[in-house]
Amino acid sequence: MFLNTRGKSHDLFYETLQRRCELTSVEKSWFKTFQKGFEGECLYDEIFEDVGHDDVLVYRDLYLKLGKSVTQYDALVINDDGIIVNEIKNYIGEYKVEGGDWFRNGQRISEEPLAQLNRAVGKLIGLRNSVNGNFGISGKLIFVSDDFYLQTDDNSLWGKIVVRMNLRRYLREFRGGKISNKSQFIVRLLSENIVENPYIDNNVDEERLRKGIYCGQCGSFNLIKSRFHLVCSSCGSKEVNETHLLRAMSDYQFLFYGKPMTRTAFMNFIGYSLTSRVVYRILLKHCYVNKKGNQTAYIFKYQNFEDAMGKPELFIKYKDHLKG
Ligand SMILES: [Zn+2]
Repeated sequence: MFLNTRGKSHDLFYETLQRRCELTSVEKSWFKTFQKGFEGECLYDEIFEDVGHDDVLVYRDLYLKLGKSVTQYDALVINDDGIIVNEIKNYIGEYKVEGGDWFRNGQRISEEPLAQLNRAVGKLIGLRNSVNGNFGISGKLIFVSDDFYLQTDDNSLWGKIVVRMNLRRYLREFRGGKISNKSQFIVRLLSENIVENPYIDNNVDEERLRKGIYCGQCGSFNLIKSRFHLVCSSCGSKEVNETHLLRAMSDYQFLFYGKPMTRTAFMNFIGYSLTSRVVYRILLKHCYVNKKGNQTAYIFKYQNFEDAMGKPELFIKYKDHLKG
């Protein structure tokens, strides 16, 4: 049973950023890394979904504050036996492990997957010991790509990894496990230590960003106002004001994570493309209002734009017409 959904924050940050400015080469490379990692994690989820996960409880993309630091977990598989950490790697190509170091095409890579896994497992052991818990904790490195090849001088490594070819069999082994009181205890223990992703970059330089609102179909900022809609002059798509503002609120949230969205800041962000009266009405409809001193901040109610558009209670009287 999956206990939560997999977050996509890093991905969405760069996806949103590139709509409004040119990514630097460093940003492009991070974006690619996060995309690749996220794809790998989704592939793992898909296979797990296919094999079935009724006999385990699974946390995905979890951040736990254990001791003084925050540790990220790609997947934690829980049953009455304990917790198994699955560190998911979407490595592609030929890898070699020699004397504990990892190489790709002869070049040492910056990550140390096994050390990373051991650290993540160690943190959970610390947590268990702090409550005198009586359950096991172990971990595996999961390589999800079928285009991953590994050579190693250390035969003990094979016991710590699962390659794509064996992934189904590995996940199937969880079948028939028990999830009763002890699993519930573990889930409670973990949930007490869950924190939000602390690594989201919210220091994007506003000056770089293109202000305004853009077409949901082609990304063009050239929109022509009609009464209830904005029509894209590049592709002809027609979207209602509310759709545009929902997209902009979602963008704001990802670009300025944790930074209060005031009415002025938001108006500036959308380049004053709609009247302050329209914007105000829609902010009140889709945000929680947080008054602090003489500043009023609006907190978007939904996870992201897609989430908002999927809400049945969100009734949009005038429909969008996207050109395919
Ligand atoms: Zn368009």
